[in-house]
Amino acid sequence: MKLHYKIALGVTFIQTLFLLFSTVFNAERFKTSIREEFASKTDSRAQLLALKISRFIEKNDIQAAITVAKKYQTGSPITYVKVVKGKNTLLDIHTTQFVPSASESEDFSEYLKKTQNESKILDAYAEIINSSGQTIAELQIGMSFYELDETISIYYRRQILFLFFQVMLMNSFVWLLSYLITRRLTRLEKACEQVGSGNLSIAFKADTSHDEIGSLSRTFQKMTLELQTALLERDSQKEKTLSASKMSSLGEMAGGIAHEINNPLTIIIGKIELIGIKVKNGSITPEQLAVELSKIHATCQRIDRIIRGLRNFSRDGEQDPFVESNIKQIFDDTLELCRARFNNLGIDLKISVDPMITAECRTVQISQIILNLLNNSIHAVENLDKKWITLEASVKENSIMIEVTDSGSGIPKHIAEKLSQPFFTTKEIGKGTGLGLSISRGIAEQHGGSLKLDTECKNTSFKLLIPKKRNMKIAA
Ligand code: ADP
Repeated sequence: MKLHYKIALGVTFIQTLFLLFSTVFNAERFKTSIREEFASKTDSRAQLLALKISRFIEKNDIQAAITVAKKYQTGSPITYVKVVKGKNTLLDIHTTQFVPSASESEDFSEYLKKTQNESKILDAYAEIINSSGQTIAELQIGMSFYELDETISIYYRRQILFLFFQVMLMNSFVWLLSYLITRRLTRLEKACEQVGSGNLSIAFKADTSHDEIGSLSRTFQKMTLELQTALLERDSQKEKTLSASKMSSLGEMAGGIAHEINNPLTIIIGKIELIGIKVKNGSITPEQLAVELSKIHATCQRIDRIIRGLRNFSRDGEQDPFVESNIKQIFDDTLELCRARFNNLGIDLKISVDPMITAECRTVQISQIILNLLNNSIHAVENLDKKWITLEASVKENSIMIEVTDSGSGIPKHIAEKLSQPFFTTKEIGKGTGLGLSISRGIAEQHGGSLKLDTECKNTSFKLLIPKKRNMKIAA
């Protein structure tokens, strides 16, 4: 339920209770005061009637007294008039006009008792005094409360109607007020949602009013702008870090790569010199020349592959599209950059990959992970007696698993626990940045996959899992 509905309902409920209570209280007070007023009026009426009929009672002209009493009774809520002298009732008239439930056939005295018990008739008494000032009889009159009660119930109904309109009016006002407040909050909430979901480029116009919501809105706008700047800074920092890590990997490979290029170049130069001499001597046949040239061509192609691999690797692959790539090709391109190092250090490299397996990925990034894992393995085994590294790829349900295992005997628990921390390194200064694994893990996650140390393996093994297709989920 929306907030302004809740506020309006809450206020209406409290207000209704309050108004109901005050209405009932006021009505009760009204009822008491009107009854009191009525009682005092009844007494005056009794005295007035007693005065009017006194001379007829004195003369014992009961008929004339009845006529006066009836006239007096007409149009007023006087239910009965009685004149009592000692034990004798001189006059007794009554009407049911103001007592709706009474019937003429009913014994009036019975009826009177009942209604008096129910406080529906108010009795008043007055002395009838003769011309010489002596009390000669007593006048009793009964006034019906029915009419009065009718007035009170009309008052009640009006009060309730008034209460209803009051509540409705107040409710509409509260609803409107809370709607105006929550509408501004809702705008802010929507902007928060957008920012929360990473959309910082929303066109949010801050509230200009000088109240709390306006101030909150301006603070939010300021915060969003600062967040935008911070994120831009973070992205540029991330790029720098990524590039630093790449450069570090390349740095480690540099010696090997120079050797890798230098060797074929020496071969090419030697061969060209030899061919030159043989051509001068005429000691080379065209067929032999063709064979030598094709050897030079193949060696040049190798250098070309290494240089392309280097150029490719140093490129930022983060913006590359995900393309269906052959895993063996990725292995070959990556190994092109470090094969010489394996040879130089005498590390036995075993590769196991089905040439048909493919994955939808960013090749440069996957290559970066593999190169980083291989670099770490080379570093770990270069001084061991048994130096071997295996690079394997296999299909695991809807994912591709790439494993780099070396002859090391695993990573101690206290170091393994810190592997996910950026800048954690056990390598000496200048050799390690401590970024390789965290960046590699980030790339694996961007691919919807994972990179984990295999703690079950008795050697040191890292497993990279990436989905075969971009939208597939990797098996847990
Ligand atoms: P760096 O290689 O720059 O130190 P990494 O994040 O790639 O950064 O590696 C962090 C640490 O993980 C290494 O310093 C090393 O202690 C440990 N490590 C990674 N791979 C291996 C491995 N194959 N064998 C032993 N330790 C490893």
